[in-house]
Amino acid sequence: MAVPKKKTSKSRKGMRRSHDHISAPNIVYCECGEPTLPHRACSVCGTYKGRQVVSSDNA
Ligand SMILES: [Zn+2]
Repeated sequence: MAVPKKKTSKSRKGMRRSHDHISAPNIVYCECGEPTLPHRACSVCGTYKGRQVVSSDNA
């Protein structure tokens, strides 16, 4: 089994992990005014691209 010759320093570990963060998701606004994720049906009114795709009992 291959074994690293040197211990990874705190500095090098930090440099490797500098790209590990995740960015905040994009927000698009539904026709009902609620913020939703892009390419997802609205969780409030159940529509996608102006079409009802999820049956909602409140509408
Ligand atoms: Zn909506």
